[in-house]
Amino acid sequence: MTVFQHLDFDAHETVVFAHDEPSGLNAIIAIHSSALGPAAGGCRVWTYPTEGAALADALRLSRGMTFKNAAAGLDLGGGKAVIMLAEGQKKTPELMRAFGRAVERLNGAYTTAEDVGVTPADMAEVRSQTRHVAGLATGAHASGDPSPVTATGVFQSIRTGVREVTGREDLAGLHVAVQGLGHVGTALCDRLAAAGAQLTVADIAPARCDEARARYGATVVAPDRIHATDCDVFAPCALGGVLSEDTIPELRARLVAGAANNQLARDDLDTVLAARGITYLPDFVVNAGGIMNVAAEIAGVDDPNWVKGKLDGLQERVTEILRRAKTSGKTPQAVAVEMVRERLAAAGERSVAS
Ligand code: NAD
Repeated sequence: MTVFQHLDFDAHETVVFAHDEPSGLNAIIAIHSSALGPAAGGCRVWTYPTEGAALADALRLSRGMTFKNAAAGLDLGGGKAVIMLAEGQKKTPELMRAFGRAVERLNGAYTTAEDVGVTPADMAEVRSQTRHVAGLATGAHASGDPSPVTATGVFQSIRTGVREVTGREDLAGLHVAVQGLGHVGTALCDRLAAAGAQLTVADIAPARCDEARARYGATVVAPDRIHATDCDVFAPCALGGVLSEDTIPELRARLVAGAANNQLARDDLDTVLAARGITYLPDFVVNAGGIMNVAAEIAGVDDPNWVKGKLDGLQERVTEILRRAKTSGKTPQAVAVEMVRERLAAAGERSVAS
């Protein structure tokens, strides 16, 4: 396994390998950039096939956080942690506390929160060892589960995207295919159904599909066919890598906008989507509602209007990205990356000057 030559290394500032014998902790904390402020991003608990796979995940996710935080207009850098569970190893309070001590040793350079496989209760264990943690259920400025706010950002982005691409102002009768009915997917379906959208859904958990059928009158399709639904909007809200060389030719939606991180299986596939006339809203822009909620907790802000203002800013950004893409002939992804690089470069110049 290589680190500095790793394909996903991309000039990370700091990568920490944290180990604790008694609890069985093996974790990687990756800080990609602190140009805009101390790094913030979730902690994922997962059983990886190899250490290399865990490192790749940490590197890709932390770089993604740099982009997400920058695009969201937050003064936070990009970081992420993964805790590697061995086959059969269970997540325990001791493990989470050991992870908390590893975060504490970074002295505030990285603030952690929930990601896949982690609950607010786990974060409470982390909090017993470090104050550099957010997404807590209780305590001063606690912001709780970020998923509903993520879903609001995705919903609003779909509305903005539909308006910019088709000129339609409302979502009544719009057909949306939602992949993944977890925390974000379900909250997104709630908002879409309330707006009168028609839903087709898929999840690997049959009970979640039954619930969606009962709650929204949704049509249920197989998880490996949802991307091919003949619909207006495809909203990936499950795992990354869903937009691939295999799936893109089968898409029938005009717009893709969803919560899943790293939806493009390869960075350059945005051009393949564009060539098919499909507008892809960059995931790191669209799914930033949750980190905005976490950022309020980090900053100690209790006023809900602060997060609402950030969400409004997100829609201004989506509009600007789509308009710049239209006039420049670039993809929305390329425009969003350009905007992030402009912000990072300006911050770099400021920090050199100050
Ligand atoms: P979750 O674990 O609550 O839900 C994921 C759902 O996807 C589950 O119901 C699972 O059964 C389903 N699923 C897994 N594989 C599937 C497949 N192949 N086909 C269909 N369904 C499948 O996760 P979540 O918090 O809802 O997050 C969803 C995605 O959004 C993740 O990629 C996450 O990284 C990303 N995201 C979440 C947040 C947040 O605030 N929770 C913020 C930003 C990004």
